[in-house]
Amino acid sequence: MLGLMQDRPLMISAILRHAARNHAAQEVVSKTVAGKLHRYGYAEMERRSRRLARVLQRLGIGDHDRVGTLAWNGFRHMELYYGVSGMRAICHTINPRLSPDDIAFIVNDGGDKLLFADLTFAPLLEALAPRIAGCVRAVVMMADADEMPTLPLPAGMDLLCYETLMAASDEAYDWPEFDERTASSLCYTSGTTGKPKGVLYSHRSTVLHAYAVNSADVFGLRSVHRVLPVVPMFHVNAWGTPYSAPMAGAALVMPGRHLDGASLTALMNSERVTMSAGVPTIWMGLLQHLRASGERLETVKRLVIGGSACPRLLLEAFDAEYGVTVDHAWGMTETSPLGTYNVPKASNADLAGDDLTRLREKQGRGIFGIDMKIVGDDGATLPWDGATSGNLMVRGPWVCGAYFGQAPGSACDAEGWFATGDVATIDPDGYMEITDRSKDVIKSGGEWISSIMLENLAVSHPDVAEAAIISVAHPKWDERPLLLVVPMPGRTIDAASVMAVYEGRVPRWWLPDDVVTVSELPHTATGKLHKLSLREKYRDHLLTPAPSIE
Ligand code: ADP
Repeated sequence: MLGLMQDRPLMISAILRHAARNHAAQEVVSKTVAGKLHRYGYAEMERRSRRLARVLQRLGIGDHDRVGTLAWNGFRHMELYYGVSGMRAICHTINPRLSPDDIAFIVNDGGDKLLFADLTFAPLLEALAPRIAGCVRAVVMMADADEMPTLPLPAGMDLLCYETLMAASDEAYDWPEFDERTASSLCYTSGTTGKPKGVLYSHRSTVLHAYAVNSADVFGLRSVHRVLPVVPMFHVNAWGTPYSAPMAGAALVMPGRHLDGASLTALMNSERVTMSAGVPTIWMGLLQHLRASGERLETVKRLVIGGSACPRLLLEAFDAEYGVTVDHAWGMTETSPLGTYNVPKASNADLAGDDLTRLREKQGRGIFGIDMKIVGDDGATLPWDGATSGNLMVRGPWVCGAYFGQAPGSACDAEGWFATGDVATIDPDGYMEITDRSKDVIKSGGEWISSIMLENLAVSHPDVAEAAIISVAHPKWDERPLLLVVPMPGRTIDAASVMAVYEGRVPRWWLPDDVVTVSELPHTATGKLHKLSLREKYRDHLLTPAPSIE
């Protein structure tokens, strides 16, 4: 017997309708490309999203058509999130930090019919246009008429202006209701392990993820919060904040392209931001700015850090020096992205000092909806003892089942488990801790060494701005860890003093065999260390030692 409750579909448009109705004046503040502040309320955003849906209809966009975006976090990007998905088309967010080759591949693979872009990306578009002319019919610059650039495009590809199209349109549009499993948005992985792959979210997965983000032990957004997503809307939906904030009636403060410490501090203080989310490199930049300038964060209570392991320095310094709590989160493009979140529970109440920091360094507990397990290379399930590490597998209603264009279920095993490519431990309390990405693991004499733990400790040294641990060849142990460090501005690295941070904290055989000072480390388009290129460069370092300063 089926239950007799109403079977109403979970629609993305319903989130915006809810916000417009209940939080009409709640603000969406955007720093524009020109550096000005734009502000309006959710009611106005909903009206303009309907107007945009009409624009898209007139441009020939229909069900399931892909509409690409190359844009920063801002109000027009929000309108695209809702307007495109809401009219039953697919909002395809593209990471502009990827190589032009990858972007061209992604646009063609996604089959985007239109491309919406911020003015910043005009030069990129000029180079890209001939390579995407097979599918993209028009480029729409997200700008006012008087800001339009001259942009030579191939024959058959129009150059259009967002605000001109909007002015000529109308709002006579009702959000349609349809199957909640319909595709809503598309985001490609960064391609660090091969060609980028498309993750195709649905209305259902997006709404359920937004509910989950808003649960109390996760982001727990409320209508009194003012949220500044530093995480970009062009990669994994800014961790769902464009949906979870309006769902809760929280204000959104969109930073646009200005993500340096000084710009973020100014915007956070002037817009009374209460919480923010981003990757560790952003918060490192903010911390350095605060320390150097003596400025304070006047209203920020909480920073969510994820995307890469959160260094101990950030967990401790923001709390001790600025009274800001740091929450650690884990996820990936394939998990919408949130999978785990770390806030202490009642049984952790006695933890303090170093023990508490150790707990908070972990990536967190599975959010309800996400099933987790760790398995050995033979597929056998491993214990949740906090010590045994294995391949992390997840499943749940906002986890990828198959990549764009592939057969349903083809990204999972027969029981629906998705292999994350991360290696992790899970403790008896359910806290998961990533020790490595499977392709980055260091196996020395047959035993695993956690590069993440070694990197975290290295950046706790006051002279170290950034650190990478990579495995390099060793004649006896097969692989040994090598530490690469970038000094803080104006500092020099004393290898012995850096090595001292490991004393008593990790087994002796984990200690890096050498410390190399470098001026910078390579990153992927999502801000993670690009270890593949480092491994290639330093593979023979211990066999034929190179200078330890470059
Ligand atoms: P890609 O860069 O391939 O697009 P994502 O942006 O989806 O990947 O990143 C997913 C990966 O980022 C995870 O599989 C994990 O390796 C890493 N990651 C995300 N959050 C954390 C975290 N808090 N700690 C350590 N690693 C993390």
